Amino acid sequence: MWPVPPRSHPSGVAADDIRSANGDIVPGSRPHPAARDGGTIRHALRVRTWLAVPIVALTLLTAAAPARASDSPPPLRGEVIGRSVQDRPIRVVRVGDPDARRKVLVVGCIHGTEPAGLAITRALRRIAPPAGVQLLLLDRINPDGCAAGTRGNARGVDLNRNFPRAWRPLDGVFESGPRALSEPESRAARALIRRERPSVSIWYHQALNWVDLQPGSNLRLMRMYARVSGMRTAVTPPLPGTVVRWTAHTYPGRTAFVVELPAGRLSPAAVFHHRRAVLALARAVRAPGGARTARHLSPASPARRR
Ligand SMILES: [Zn+2]
Repeated sequence: MWPVPPRSHPSGVAADDIRSANGDIVPGSRPHPAARDGGTIRHALRVRTWLAVPIVALTLLTAAAPARASDSPPPLRGEVIGRSVQDRPIRVVRVGDPDARRKVLVVGCIHGTEPAGLAITRALRRIAPPAGVQLLLLDRINPDGCAAGTRGNARGVDLNRNFPRAWRPLDGVFESGPRALSEPESRAARALIRRERPSVSIWYHQALNWVDLQPGSNLRLMRMYARVSGMRTAVTPPLPGTVVRWTAHTYPGRTAFVVELPAGRLSPAAVFHHRRAVLALARAVRAPGGARTARHLSPASPARRR
């Protein structure tokens, strides 16, 4: 959300984790205990040789076989929800049952200088969300800024200061536009949220390296995201004209919050953990009442920073 120097971040991934053939992380793949014992190294090698035969055979068979239905990614439904100042399409991809009532919106990039979340929205295209929930993946709400590598859109407006809640005129790096919703990208986001009413909206930024607990949003869900992704939480002073503040105020009972990723690109392990965090929230909102029943962070009593 703010251009602030990066901080160190525990990845939350054990050193023993390895990556499987499809890019997923397989936790806890330690060496065979016998291999650490000098007296039984030969035994360990023999065991590995015997294990290697079926593993290689299975790998070859898997590679040769056509993809089975369960291996195929679910069909993706793309939709243009608006166009940018420079006429680039703004696309949303639905993953999961398009008739599912509960929706989780995930936005990869709103500030063009903070693109790390795109790796997460890309990874989420390859999963099947829990029944009853669909994911709305919006890679770039600011396609012009993402193409040019600028924080603002093509007119230099910071889209995350351009929403109606507590909007005020700002210039410089936080240029908020001539009025609230002056920008086509902001209007496209508002129309999408109005129409879809996502139970949860997650907006990725960089590079403060924490989950920002948004007043008015569901505390349990935001903390769940932090726990599963291995991030810490923080509460920052409310900012004028941000999309999560507008969403949380306009749709009480729904959750919208910012995940401040660390600086630079996310490692494959980090992408894995963030993908898992999104899925944990998708499962949590599936329950009757879902995101609505749990305690919400009171706008009047912001918690202290952690
Ligand atoms: Zn940002």
